[in-house]
Amino acid sequence: MRINDAFFELPTPCYIVDEERLIKNLEILDAVQRRTGCHILLAQKAFSMFSLYPLIGKYLSGTTASGLFEARLGYEEMGKENHVFSTAYLENEFDQMLSLCDHIIFNSFNQWVKYKDQALAAGRSCGMRINPECSTQEHAIYDPCAPGSRMGVTLKQFKPELLKGLEGLHFHTLCEQNADALEETLKAVEDQFGCYLHQMKWLNFGGGHHITRKDYDVEKLIACIKHIQGKYKVKVYLEPGEAVALDTGFLVSTVLDIVDNGIKNAILDASAACHMPDVLEMPYRPEIIGAGLAGEKPFTYRLGGATCLAGDIMGDYSFDRQLKIGDKLVFCDMAIYSMVKNNTFNGMNLPSIAIFTEAKNIRMVKQFGYEDFKNRLS
Ligand SMILES: *Cc1c(COP(=O)(O)O)cnc(C)c1O
Repeated sequence: MRINDAFFELPTPCYIVDEERLIKNLEILDAVQRRTGCHILLAQKAFSMFSLYPLIGKYLSGTTASGLFEARLGYEEMGKENHVFSTAYLENEFDQMLSLCDHIIFNSFNQWVKYKDQALAAGRSCGMRINPECSTQEHAIYDPCAPGSRMGVTLKQFKPELLKGLEGLHFHTLCEQNADALEETLKAVEDQFGCYLHQMKWLNFGGGHHITRKDYDVEKLIACIKHIQGKYKVKVYLEPGEAVALDTGFLVSTVLDIVDNGIKNAILDASAACHMPDVLEMPYRPEIIGAGLAGEKPFTYRLGGATCLAGDIMGDYSFDRQLKIGDKLVFCDMAIYSMVKNNTFNGMNLPSIAIFTEAKNIRMVKQFGYEDFKNRLS
């Protein structure tokens, strides 16, 4: 079967991840590891579909987490290197965190002083997140280097006298960016923190590297990694989320109704607010297979979800023919920051989750129901 035929066989709404596309991404990432000796970790924040962790674990070095539950998921389902960065660790969780993670990254010297004895006694490799105050992007909510940011220690707040016991530095400043932004950031990191890097064992470049995007400059990335490894004799880690599952997943939906109140609205069983919240939060316009910009093709519709939120709108799209009730619409690049962020607002059900396997079959992984909605509410 082709994946385009699979779309018509799925119950909707449904996320479907294409294994073959995922493997292509993993091969690109693995080539970077092989050519440099760096380690690449899956940032689970973007993609936590753990039924694919065995496959991902064949290529990547492990997982990284933003908190306890992701840390446990990586430990249980991938079982390779397991790093964690948290903006602030919870006292009642820290013992368990130490039992799950081999690398613990702190966001401040306060946190380091508070937890260092415990972490070092457990034999964990500890690191500090630095903030090189080098903004290379425009999305304010995704810019950890914005003025006054709480993310990472700036040079002014840096405490060289407390470095004993720390083995690594970590920065995460990019979002969907190319290697030129990394190169610029590394200059800032070296200028400000280079003198401390010589005494470290590792440097983590964070996420936000769009390594698997067609126009990404992999050679420049490799040059950056080799430069840092050569100059400071540190191990380099990268922890992309998006790049792992970029363009590997779809969200298949069905047109439920069409209403024309001056604008033709198609109402779908998928919701922007519930099933692709980044469309509203980032915001951005997802691609739909076979659709164009408003007015580009003969029939334009405003696409919205079946919730009562007026703003639950994916955008205006045009089609070659009129939409009719029952038509399937397929949203692209829906593996990342979708399942991890979806919700049951309005009592909407969660989309099913399926895999289009390498053998070109559908494997339904999970379907949801009323209990998934109810269980969180009392
Ligand atoms: C969000 C995040 C990542 C992953 O970012 P992507 O943009 O998905 O590649 C990695 N590390 C940290 C610390 C993050 O906050």
